[in-house]
Order: sequence, then C-alpha cells, then structure tokens
Amino acid sequence: MKLIILDRDGVINHDSDHFIKSPDEWEPIPGSLEAIARLHQAGYRVVVCTNQSGIARGLFNIVTLNAIHQKMHAAVRMVGGEINAIFFCPHAADDNCDCRKPKPGMLQSIGERFDVSLKGVPTIGDSLRDLQAGFVVGCTPYLVLTGKGEKTRTKGGLPPGTSIYPNLAAVVDQLLKSTADVPAAA
Ligand SMILES: [Mg+2]
Ligand SMILES: [Zn+2]
Repeated sequence: MKLIILDRDGVINHDSDHFIKSPDEWEPIPGSLEAIARLHQAGYRVVVCTNQSGIARGLFNIVTLNAIHQKMHAAVRMVGGEINAIFFCPHAADDNCDCRKPKPGMLQSIGERFDVSLKGVPTIGDSLRDLQAGFVVGCTPYLVLTGKGEKTRTKGGLPPGTSIYPNLAAVVDQLLKSTADVPAAA
C-alpha cells in the first residue's frame, strides 16, 4: 500500500498568519487538488496531518474545523481525488501533547491506523516541524515553497535528505514519474 502524508495549510491551501478560521477562508493553492487526484488515481492513500492550535486558542471550534474539512473533501472529490483521512492536533504549543508537530505522535497514529511502516513514506510540508516530525519516524521529507516554504528554506536546518519542490503539484510529478520509471517485472 502506498501512503503519502500531507500538511494542510501552505501545502493544499493558502496559509494565513491569522489562521484559517472558516470554510470561506480555506482556498486551495492552484494545482494542489488535481495533484491529490493524481495521487489517488495512482493508488496512493492520501492522509492530511495538520496542527490546528486555533482550536486551543479559541479562534474556531471543532464544528467549524469539520466544516472546513467538508469543503476540502468536496473540492478534492470534484476533481476526482480523495483524502482518505485527516489527523489534526487541536492543542497549543504549551499543552505539551504528543501530537503537535514536530512531535511524531500524529504520524505514528497514521502508521497504526493504516497498519503500514512509515519508512520512506513521503511527508510533504512547508514548515520545518512538518519535516522534523516525518524524519524522526523514517518518512522521506519534502519541502514545498508555497505557504511558509520560502521562509523555511531560508532559515535552513532541514532534516538530511529533504527534497525541495516549488509546490505539491511538482512533488507529485516527481513521485509519479519515479514510480513509472521502475522497470516492469519480467
Ligand atoms: Mg503548513
Ligand atoms: Zn496535540
């Protein structure tokens, strides 16, 4: 089973320093939904893994988060894709939970839910903590330059083996190309 783990804000949709607090504020980055559709059609399970501390801060509640995710699911389905699961951390940084990235708790839960090894699973993010969380559990980190990605690249300190791509669509181009490059068994 092929699995891929995506951060949400700054990877699938435009990020905001003021948080995404309503379905109206959730706007896809051009090409990201179609990229998810191509992954789905290539047999990938697509899982979203996202820190949503706006809940702990009282900026929005779980009902609103669900409504935002309904909009995301519907937008992906409209172009022939599917997001198979969404894992989120609702906590603030000082809650000291195990799930908020860069802690690997959400990724470990994803591995358990899908009953797969996380080794080599592509994890895509625009922030250092996305890549750190993935690296710790053996995922292959990809930095995209959408969202906070340019800032993240400038700051440096990326985990070893991080690949850098302009956006999610470019990562998916590469992943599907390298799959197609594998010679068929005789
Ligand atoms: Mg992000
Ligand atoms: Zn958490």
